[in-house]
Amino acid sequence: MCGIVGYVGGGNVYDILIGGLHRLEYRGYDSAGVALESPSGKLSVYKTLGKVSNLEAFCKDKDTDASVGIAHTRWATHGEPSDCNAHPHYSEDGNIAIVHNGTIENYKIIKDALTQHGCTFKSETDTEVLAQLIEYVRVTNNCSLVDAVREALKEVIGAYAIAVIEKDHPDTIVAARQSSPLVVGIGDGEYFLASDATPFVEFTDKVVYVDDGQIAVITRGEPLRLLDLDNKESNVDVKKLKMSISQLEKGGYPHFMLKEIFEQPETLRDCIRGRVVEGGKRVILNGVFDNQEKFLKAERIILVACGTSWHASLIGKYLLQDMCRIPVEVEYASEFRYSNPVIIDRDIVIAVSQSGETADTLAAIKIAKKMGAFVYGISNVVGSSIPRETDSGTYIHVGPEIGVASTKAFTGQVMVLTLLAVCIGQLRGHLNAEQVQKLGEAILKIPAYVKETLKLDKTIERLSLIYTYAHNFLYLGRGYSYPVALEGALKLKEISYIHAEGYPAAEMKHGPIALIDSEMPSVIIAPKDHLYDKIVSNVQQVKARGGSIIAIVSDGDETISGIADHVLKVPDVPECLTPIITSIPLQLLSYHIAINKGKDVDMPRNLAKSVTVE
Ligand code: GLU
Repeated sequence: MCGIVGYVGGGNVYDILIGGLHRLEYRGYDSAGVALESPSGKLSVYKTLGKVSNLEAFCKDKDTDASVGIAHTRWATHGEPSDCNAHPHYSEDGNIAIVHNGTIENYKIIKDALTQHGCTFKSETDTEVLAQLIEYVRVTNNCSLVDAVREALKEVIGAYAIAVIEKDHPDTIVAARQSSPLVVGIGDGEYFLASDATPFVEFTDKVVYVDDGQIAVITRGEPLRLLDLDNKESNVDVKKLKMSISQLEKGGYPHFMLKEIFEQPETLRDCIRGRVVEGGKRVILNGVFDNQEKFLKAERIILVACGTSWHASLIGKYLLQDMCRIPVEVEYASEFRYSNPVIIDRDIVIAVSQSGETADTLAAIKIAKKMGAFVYGISNVVGSSIPRETDSGTYIHVGPEIGVASTKAFTGQVMVLTLLAVCIGQLRGHLNAEQVQKLGEAILKIPAYVKETLKLDKTIERLSLIYTYAHNFLYLGRGYSYPVALEGALKLKEISYIHAEGYPAAEMKHGPIALIDSEMPSVIIAPKDHLYDKIVSNVQQVKARGGSIIAIVSDGDETISGIADHVLKVPDVPECLTPIITSIPLQLLSYHIAINKGKDVDMPRNLAKSVTVE
């Protein structure tokens, strides 16, 4: 994961890099560092354990005057989080410094070879190996830094986005990408470089997305150059960035997570805009309509995703099955890619990822494409790898999500999957005009219902006080509410560090029911749907064993409201739209419990937002 930033230009290099690191902290935050090069060629590296604020404190009395610099916020893969393992890493002779996002799979072989040539290593990272390799090639071949990077990368197996600076060239950054994201921002007489565009959004809207296998040569006063590993130059395609600074700020909320929860009426409106038209009569996704033949002929849909996106995909399975009557499978991308999958050319593989950079999902896409499937991407970050690697797709358009625990991206993904199911359903003739209109109208009302649901915040805040010190939670749901239970449990785990298990409510009696006692609260998601009567029995089974129950039910509910200890009533919506509504109180519950426990909800321990490593 990790975030990398680079800057060449007349601005305050140190301030720009630190500001950029703060924006990228969602990608990792176990240590941070910066390499600064003064106009006279003095290369200084400052790095320290902990968050970017620790780095700032560390640099307070340091000389930070520079004309070029690179910086890093880390999520360790090779070597524990420590001062020494923090990036930037530098060559033994101190000539070059490097920051890296990714993993070098064959680092051990390279390290052994370099050791035989007399190199010694300070850190346990794969990144230092790359630094030493580049410098070794540069010295041995007596070549330029660009040529050394190019030759060194030919030896490397793995994933990387790197930025390298060199002592004698205080005006140049050499960057490269393979499977980890990298964007260049072109300003007025200045260049920015980062894992995504957030570090430079206030400085420029001109961006260049570096492709896999490309090296970017960024030199002050010279045009940006893009080369491949064979030194072939390619055209620089400058795109316009659509992102505003206000999207990256907390806007008066204490945490990004809370802001993002409360943004959902708006983000869902953005997600629907232009896609549900004529008052709900028509649902249009260009990615589907431009490829009608593929969707008409499809014999199976396979959804691949990780984490929260996998939960959204599981809801997608229910939606696609219901509305399109097509076989659907949901796979963890990390399992799918190594499972020797059977794929035929009439399969449609749908890859779901907020960042559009999830390493396992990208690998799954490559396999599916190779085997002839039509691959459709659902992601949030415009210009990220998934939309570029897939045959077609849809953005969820919920704006940058900074909180590590996904909230608005989850509801955006579920919404896009709903739209997708309606689109494919009407195309394949399983939904008639009347059914589409009914669904379209209901979808248009969802943002207002989400707003209504958010009014539960204060009630949930009070409720959270009762359960803050529970050690375990069970989340139960059936049908569409089962993936919601999984997602609710995940939210609680990741930000409050309380053990929570999501389970299909009826499966509970095959095991987890043994755990239930007065210490084990159950959160039961039971909106009005075709399984309501069934889940009533499950609620009673929990109650009979002394478990306390927090129930999420639809407005007007009486039966479960009469049994549960705490009831959170949400607007009554058509069954297929319940997940978007019922997930809102679960987001709030996990947020408040984590806050009560004093946890850092935006940056939970050990996690990072965009999982760009295996
Ligand atoms: N492999 C590098 C390290 O452990 C970078 C990690 C990453 O990008 O997540 O320091």
